[in-house]
Amino acid sequence: MSLPYQLKIKAYRFFNTSLGKLMLKLLSGFVHARGLKKSKVENKAPFIVSVTIDTESGFVDKNDHRVWQKSNPSAYIGFYKGIENWRSLLSKYNVKATFFLSTNCFSADGEDYSKIIKQLRLLIKEGHEIGLHMHPDSDLALQSLLGKRFNATSAKFYNEKEINYIIAAGKNLIKKHLKISATSFRWGNWALNEDAVKALQKNGFRIDSSATPEIKGHQNDSMAYDWSKVIEHYPWRLSRVDYQDTKHQNSKIVEIPIATFNFFGLKLRADPANSALLAACFDCYYKNAERSKPFIFVVISHSIEGTHQDGSKTKVIGVMDEFLSHAKKFRDVRFSTLDKARK
Ligand SMILES: [Zn+2]
Repeated sequence: MSLPYQLKIKAYRFFNTSLGKLMLKLLSGFVHARGLKKSKVENKAPFIVSVTIDTESGFVDKNDHRVWQKSNPSAYIGFYKGIENWRSLLSKYNVKATFFLSTNCFSADGEDYSKIIKQLRLLIKEGHEIGLHMHPDSDLALQSLLGKRFNATSAKFYNEKEINYIIAAGKNLIKKHLKISATSFRWGNWALNEDAVKALQKNGFRIDSSATPEIKGHQNDSMAYDWSKVIEHYPWRLSRVDYQDTKHQNSKIVEIPIATFNFFGLKLRADPANSALLAACFDCYYKNAERSKPFIFVVISHSIEGTHQDGSKTKVIGVMDEFLSHAKKFRDVRFSTLDKARK
């Protein structure tokens, strides 16, 4: 393990202790977000929190190291236990969430497959939304359906035709196994592009939530993504020409971006992995976002971050528990799936 990675894990563990959380709370005044239009309206529309969970293989190990689907696509516990642990937290607060599903779950068989299907059916029954989440390089069900191996995560490594049949195949897998039609989408590692926008429109999607305003990463590998030119935090229609252009508005796909913020020069997402900064980010948006229309505050986490290898709950579930309890105290805060929030 590299030194920066070890330091990151050390910092993560410290900021999840009581002292670390207290420190973050004291520093929460330094959380800010560019591009929030100041509210002038007296009667503010509701502030909607949309919890989104990218649902994949993997787990959190004892040292808080994340085992992701890419390194272990058959760690199916990330689906069945991950979903179960998130469901139990969400039902405690009666919160409906959007689960962006990697169709890799359909490559499971036997008992794993039954456990996964059971959890997915419960999600639907309980009023959560299931969207499509695309990781071509670690989705064994997708690769088997298309009879092809894929080596990159990001859309930019595929041509328009390939992207179209990748997205169509993902949608068909969900339909085949769950008898529902997904209309919301997030590209794995946020790595959407304009060809993906065209494919989403062709395949009947209505919402994308891949955008992470002001953030880019992995510039030199197959997980590259770039939203650094975007500072918009309000929904817009995605461009079919330049996916980072928020002014074109020339597709039918509504982008509902993930909430992002700045903290001492770091650009971060509204993610319980950031410990008490998630609540600080919420406070910043709640106070400052213009609300002549309802504002949608999108929080991101992962199914795998809800479970250890033995199925027990993680620190991330604890942070989200505290966050939901905080957000529930505000009278004009609602919780909604992305699909319902759009309407
Ligand atoms: Zn993912």
